[in-house]
Amino acid sequence: MAIHEKSLIAPEDLITSDKLVVDGVDVSGHWNTMIKPRYISDYDPDFYKTIQSYGGGENVHRCWQCGSCTNSCTMYAINTDFNPRYWIYLVNLGMKDELLKDKDIIWQCVSCNKCTNICPKDVRPEGVMKALQHWLEAEGHTQKSNSTLFDEEFARQCLERGRIEDTEVIHNFLKKTGQDIVELVKNGWLGILVARMNKWPLLKQGKIIKFVARMPLLGPVKMGLMMVFKPRTKSWGRTGEVLRQYVEEQKRLAHESK
Ligand code: SF4
Ligand code: SF4
Repeated sequence: MAIHEKSLIAPEDLITSDKLVVDGVDVSGHWNTMIKPRYISDYDPDFYKTIQSYGGGENVHRCWQCGSCTNSCTMYAINTDFNPRYWIYLVNLGMKDELLKDKDIIWQCVSCNKCTNICPKDVRPEGVMKALQHWLEAEGHTQKSNSTLFDEEFARQCLERGRIEDTEVIHNFLKKTGQDIVELVKNGWLGILVARMNKWPLLKQGKIIKFVARMPLLGPVKMGLMMVFKPRTKSWGRTGEVLRQYVEEQKRLAHESK
């Protein structure tokens, strides 16, 4: 049977023969389009509980799929891919992979709460959108900002050793943000910084003795050693342990209050 509403089916699940004649009838192309049999086994029946654990997602299980939320949605009016009813359906079925296909547009919710006001089952779809966003973040499906990556590296060193090494923070930050350190030294701001620190203009002027006399030798050597030996603050073991436990506790509390 020909499939007319193809937009609802993933392209890879459609099969079409360009040339096909059955019992003398030419059913080439569109007329022989079939849907591949699909057996779903990769679902998580407890996924709705995960969404319920985030603030706003508590009533997600109540949805009876009337569609009023999507019909009234501000974002759906301008982008029909933004479909809260469908995402709530996927949550209750535990189909995380399908949900992840829309991970970049779930964020478009403008929290107008039209959906929440109209929902006959008090699902609070706006809250479910927030819960989904928190889940996407917690599962690492969102790109971390550069400032978050910097903070993470800074905090990691503080917690592990009770101190930070500037060189290591910068080195690891540049690495995590995919910046080419050699290129930055050759043609970027890092090169300008190093040149200024080392008074390279003196070298260009031929003032070699002045240049060598003002060259910071001890600093870079010390920074290199710190990178290798990674010293810790004295007696940091127990204090660090307590701090790490505290941070984990705060993360847990923050998750519960979302
Ligand atoms: S309005 Fe409420 S019950 Fe209806 S589909 Fe949306 S969330 Fe479900
Ligand atoms: S709160 Fe979000 S999901 Fe609800 S109607 Fe507004 S934009 Fe749509």
